[in-house]
Amino acid sequence: MNIQVLGAHNCESRDLKFTCLLIDNILVIDAGGLTSSLSLPAQLKLKAILLTHQHYDHIRDIPALAMSLFLHYATINIYSTQSVYDALANHLFNNQIYPNFLEEPQQNPIIKFNLVEPYRTEQIEGYSILPTEAIHSVPTIGYQVTSPDGKVVFYTGDTGPGLANCWQYVSPQVLITEVTASDRYEESVTGKHLTPNLLKQELIAFQELKGYLPQVVLIHMSPNLEKEIEAEIAVVAKALNNSISLAYEGMQLHL
Ligand SMILES: [Zn+2]
Ligand SMILES: [Zn+2]
Repeated sequence: MNIQVLGAHNCESRDLKFTCLLIDNILVIDAGGLTSSLSLPAQLKLKAILLTHQHYDHIRDIPALAMSLFLHYATINIYSTQSVYDALANHLFNNQIYPNFLEEPQQNPIIKFNLVEPYRTEQIEGYSILPTEAIHSVPTIGYQVTSPDGKVVFYTGDTGPGLANCWQYVSPQVLITEVTASDRYEESVTGKHLTPNLLKQELIAFQELKGYLPQVVLIHMSPNLEKEIEAEIAVVAKALNNSISLAYEGMQLHL
């Protein structure tokens, strides 16, 4: 399994992109910095997109991708919840912001939207996909992805503390999760996001339950706090004696 981090931040600039992961060049999780990171031929190779929730920084490039596909007579499968479908249908693909690619062209709509449910496994393009539940300001799911050769990555989605419930369902080799802010913002992000200290508590719970810790990769950092986050995470990694790294645009993980 090859995982490319296309977007690792909650902000966008020339050098930073919104959250987006690409697995083996065909499977996408969250579509922040998607089309802005891929050539047109690479966009046409995509087979499926898993969306965690409807926040703008996670769905931003879906309309742009839909137009690329439309112009090349291609289609795409998107997987997510009813809440995400409703947000896309009501606010983006409503024939006012953009054409309704969820239903058009009528004979063969560009976007084939598939509903998933937490803890109901789906077989998608040869991968076994387990949606999980996150703790966020809108309904949010994570995804454990198991490749045909048994490699396992788990991405939590945007989440605050309280992942203990989903830890029992997952056994990843690599855990991709978020740390949005540094510890001094703990109070203001609780219920929506993680800080290094909040992540530490989640990882301690994971280790107690599962008896090991996976390699941890962080995304969704606020760029203005990244130096602080990096320093605080180094302390957490040392305390837990575990690899925890901050992702960056262009980072590749090989499992
Ligand atoms: Zn969010
Ligand atoms: Zn976000």
